[in-house]
Amino acid sequence: MLNLEKSLAAFNEAKTLMPGGVNSPVRSYANVDCNPPFIAKAKGDRIFDIDGNEYIDYVGSWGPMVVGHAHPNVVKALQEAVTRGTSYGAPTLLESELAKLVMKVYPSIEVIRMVNSGTEATMSALRLARGYTGRDKIVKFIGCYHGHSDSLLVNAGSGMATFGVPSSPGVTKGTAADTISVPYNDVEAITKVMDEMGDEIAAVIIEPVAGNMGCVPPKQGYLRKIRELTQAHGTILIFDEVMCGFRASLGGAQAAYGITPDLTCLGKIIGGGLPVAAYGGRRDIMMKVSPAGPVYQAGTLSGNPLAMTAGIETLKLITAEPEPGEADYSRMLTLKTKKLLLGWLEKAKEAGVTIQAHQAGSMFGIFFNEHEVYNYDDSCASDQEAFKVWFKSMLEQGIYLAPSQFETLFMSGAHSDEDIDRTIEAAGKAFKAVAES
Ligand code: PMP
Repeated sequence: MLNLEKSLAAFNEAKTLMPGGVNSPVRSYANVDCNPPFIAKAKGDRIFDIDGNEYIDYVGSWGPMVVGHAHPNVVKALQEAVTRGTSYGAPTLLESELAKLVMKVYPSIEVIRMVNSGTEATMSALRLARGYTGRDKIVKFIGCYHGHSDSLLVNAGSGMATFGVPSSPGVTKGTAADTISVPYNDVEAITKVMDEMGDEIAAVIIEPVAGNMGCVPPKQGYLRKIRELTQAHGTILIFDEVMCGFRASLGGAQAAYGITPDLTCLGKIIGGGLPVAAYGGRRDIMMKVSPAGPVYQAGTLSGNPLAMTAGIETLKLITAEPEPGEADYSRMLTLKTKKLLLGWLEKAKEAGVTIQAHQAGSMFGIFFNEHEVYNYDDSCASDQEAFKVWFKSMLEQGIYLAPSQFETLFMSGAHSDEDIDRTIEAAGKAFKAVAES
């Protein structure tokens, strides 16, 4: 039995200090009926709690830790950087270096602006799209999460869906009225909206591989259709690749599916575990951003030297030319992920449990569902009780997963074959526990 005594005491204290004891909702483990381990440290693919338990980590801080925790290159660069000061609020070479590293793998990004969180990136990209087009309305997809800015807290996924709240109090009716939500992976729904209102719509924002209703890739041809519709109406297409960037493939979903958006939002990986995100895209649109243009957006800590340093080191590692005969970083992650999921599928079958297993590069997840999962409704129809049993059994066995079926799991370069094998074995026991529950 996992001993989480110290974590429980820490959580009880934290609950008196912070709403729900946490600084971001899903960390509270509220929907899996147990208390969260409090984390003391992490290294490679391992995360350690204050009770002395060690886990193989597939959360990876919800995506950023693609090279594993505390990678020596990142640590060394940060240690050196910190001695040069932690923030200047002035231009640095580091910002241009990270910008160039990103643009090399995202050619659709001609001009970029660094911000501090995915929320800021999407919020700013939408303001820009509205400023550029002079239109107010935006379209989002049900179950896609783009951070917590007001106009996007309408039928959002992630923590919102986990707690079953379709939109948040505090978001005004006026703001919500400008946001049109349509089901994901439904060509008819988006076509209808664009046919009826396309010329009034500033932007369509989408997670091109959804990661906040569980991992749900787009159907064949879906993104292409959205590209055609937006182009026809002069609507800005925003790919929110905060999660799937550098994961669906090195060049993100846009490279994997061969679709060029007008604007892209990135986050997580580009900060290497420090708070960084970015938005960028077509030069003519981006040049409308202040001070080049009239659309205001700023940030005291934007382009922070430590954050840029962690991002640069992480991107250098994942974009490095492979040794002859070896797979590149992204391919290596994809193969590891495939191995893990095939193992899980086999173990589920042995236990007589039906799951849907989804993968997009190094993003992955399973649904306890007899039917295929293409959208938020399908995802919600998955068996939450089975998930709880599975999740708790995995945690007991030292496997650290996201505490919700609406989240995505992430592979890192630090996950060894042995650890993946161990994770598959643990899954065997966990699926048996589900079958017996
Ligand atoms: N967009 C997507 C696709 C995300 O997954 C997230 C966060 N998981 C965000 C935006 C918001 O990013 P942040 O939490 O850094 O504000």
